[in-house]
Formats: sequence, C-alpha cells, structure tokens
Amino acid sequence: MKKEKLDLYRENLIELQESHVLEKKELETDYLHGSQKEESGDLSAYSLHLADLAADTNEKEKNIRIISTLSDTLFEIDEALYRIEHGNYGICEECGKEIPEARLDVIPYAHFCIECKKVKGKGNNK
Ligand SMILES: [Zn+2]
Repeated sequence: MKKEKLDLYRENLIELQESHVLEKKELETDYLHGSQKEESGDLSAYSLHLADLAADTNEKEKNIRIISTLSDTLFEIDEALYRIEHGNYGICEECGKEIPEARLDVIPYAHFCIECKKVKGKGNNK
C-alpha cells in the first residue's frame, strides 16, 4: 500500500478513535447521571416514576451494550494503528492477501478480506 494511502487510513483511524472515545465518555456520564435521577425520583407521580424506571433500565442496558461495542471497536482501532506502524496493515490475517481499499474505506480496522470474513461468518453470527 502506498504511504499516502496509509497516512489517510491512519488519519481515519485516529478520527474514529477520538469520536468513539467521546461517545463512550458521554454514554458513561449519562449512565452515572441516570442512577442519580432514580434516587431523587418524584414520588407524587408514582406510576409515572415506575414507567421512568423501566425506561431507564432499558436505556441503561442499551448504553452498556453500546459502551461495550465502542470498547471493542477502540481495541480494534488500536490494533489497526499498531499494524500501520509495523507495516502489515491492510493484509488479510486469514489468506494473506491485500484487503481491498473499498473495504478499508468502510472499516479501516478490518482484519480480513470480504471472502474470508464470509467464510468465518458461517455458523457464527458475530
Ligand atoms: Zn482473506
């Protein structure tokens, strides 16, 4: 891969990393803030409060899922940046072929080419 292209992906990855870190921070703040809201709930609207609690719980579960996905992605981004530094970025870890740039444009931290990803995806919905 050309150095210019590699620099571009590095930039993309760093940008992605920053936005993910920010998003994760926001969600974590929301999460902490949400538990404070529960404790100071308005008892005069008890049934409403219960509905709020349920919504809060759903919201929290959703937040935790998103936070964990963001953490996973941040880990992938770190790895991709490491690969850029060590000159093996954009190489499929399964077949050793170059991952098409069209794929890296969408997922700059991809480990596998589309073909290998398809094969690996079988029997595993991840
Ligand atoms: Zn492959």
